[in-house]
Amino acid sequence: MRYTATEFGPAENATGGPGTFFLDRDGTVNVKPPDGQYVTSPGELVLLPGAAEAVRRLNAAGRRVVLVTNQRGVARGLMTREDVAAVHRRLAEMLRAGGAFLDACYICPHEVGRCGCRKPLPGLLRAAARDFPDIDPAHSVMIGDSESDVLAGKAAGTATVRIGRPAENAGQTAADLVAADLWTAVDLLLTSRRRPRRRGPADPRRGDGV
Ligand SMILES: [Mg+2]
Ligand SMILES: [Zn+2]
Repeated sequence: MRYTATEFGPAENATGGPGTFFLDRDGTVNVKPPDGQYVTSPGELVLLPGAAEAVRRLNAAGRRVVLVTNQRGVARGLMTREDVAAVHRRLAEMLRAGGAFLDACYICPHEVGRCGCRKPLPGLLRAAARDFPDIDPAHSVMIGDSESDVLAGKAAGTATVRIGRPAENAGQTAADLVAADLWTAVDLLLTSRRRPRRRGPADPRRGDGV
């Protein structure tokens, strides 16, 4: 079994620093609409169980939380950027009701193949790293329910968590860890003693064998 808490843990210092938690939105924080459909209005937004609590724990631990979400429905004319903004205001409100907040939110509104920011490309994560120069991808993690989230994280140099059932995902994901839901992922990452590590070759920028 590849995916265990001990082979993938958080930074030891749970009080901030370069480690950022990049979260996918649909299927990770809120209920994912059926394929080809989008959350086009605030009333359609439903948080997943434990999601607000997970973000609250990250906030309490001093971790930056950055939402990175593909919203191709904008390019397809099914909603406007203002619709997305309204959904995100509602998301912020729902999180606030759970004592939680997002530090930032990055959206790709584009069609497939038209930009550098639609996951699995790493543009959204890189934009965040430009805006928050203290972000160190090697200490950060991307959490999402799609393999495109995992690939975006890997391309940006972060550790990765795939949300889903380990039995279904084993051998089918490049993620460092599979967790049933966001709460479980955050719990594993915040309670493990070891810092995040990526599978694969050692990072030459670090001399600590990660
Ligand atoms: Mg998703
Ligand atoms: Zn884009």
